[in-house]
Amino acid sequence: MSMKGLAGKTALITGASSGIGQAIAIRLAQEGCNIAINYRRKVEEGEYTQQLALQSVNQAETSQVQSLLVQGDVSKEEDIIRMVNAVVEKFGSLDILVNNAGIQAECPSHEIPADKFDQVIAVNLRGAYLCARETIKYLLEQQRSSVIINVSSVHETIPRPMYLSYAISKGGMGSLTKTLALEYANRGIRVNAIAPGATATPINESWTTDVEKQAIVERHIPMGRAGTPDEMAAAAAFLASDEAAYITGQTLFIDGGLTLYADFREAWSA
Ligand code: NAD
Repeated sequence: MSMKGLAGKTALITGASSGIGQAIAIRLAQEGCNIAINYRRKVEEGEYTQQLALQSVNQAETSQVQSLLVQGDVSKEEDIIRMVNAVVEKFGSLDILVNNAGIQAECPSHEIPADKFDQVIAVNLRGAYLCARETIKYLLEQQRSSVIINVSSVHETIPRPMYLSYAISKGGMGSLTKTLALEYANRGIRVNAIAPGATATPINESWTTDVEKQAIVERHIPMGRAGTPDEMAAAAAFLASDEAAYITGQTLFIDGGLTLYADFREAWSA
């Protein structure tokens, strides 16, 4: 495993204590990046990712990969500022930001309490923007080239009844990705997104722990199975690497064909 240009870089991954964020942290460490593992509350949340990442790095290379556990709630501006400063202080650099932290809340759209609506937007979209803002400020001062990866979703484009705030946050993430990419393209900052389809992680416990519900989910996926966090991490590593040096402003859908709409596999009109 060696993607061009990742060894020796420093990456901050938000929400890295589980699921896709954890897999991205591990994969970037395997590619030789120093990793800053953001966790939301307790240090034990991040420690497990740190342990997995360092274990998985080739023994001979372990000493070259450093890690930092950094607490921060991405819905809080002051936490984000502190977090980015802590990364820069520890590593003297910040080359890759992965905006992964995300939450969802189920509710009929005509009943969502305003504070619950705000909370999802605050974590998924405002948090991603503020992390990008603080990172870009640093990068412009340092005149460093770098990469931002946003973890969006197939719901960047597919509507999601009962999860309105989530759908809006991910739709917004597509726009955040494109706007930042255009604004900073001539200053060495690439901004892209990955859009996972249904992926087996804790956010999806409602169906990953129930065989019947899982079968219903899989029926909508042309490839007939959920994705894995490692498959998402591979795409994130690619976009972060110099292999993707000419790619910016794009959302890469990693969804087993979900956005091809399985229901249209058979002819449905004459
Ligand atoms: P997950 O629940 O395992 O991970 C979410 C992470 O975000 C957790 O580590 C959690 O601690 C962290 N987090 C939540 N609120 C936070 C806050 N305020 N500050 C800091 N961290 C916070 O689920 P996951 O599937 O790994 O989700 C990761 C990302 O992938 C999310 O943005 C999610 O929307 C996106 N995604 C997931 C799927 C899927 O099917 N699993 C599909 C599309 C997109």
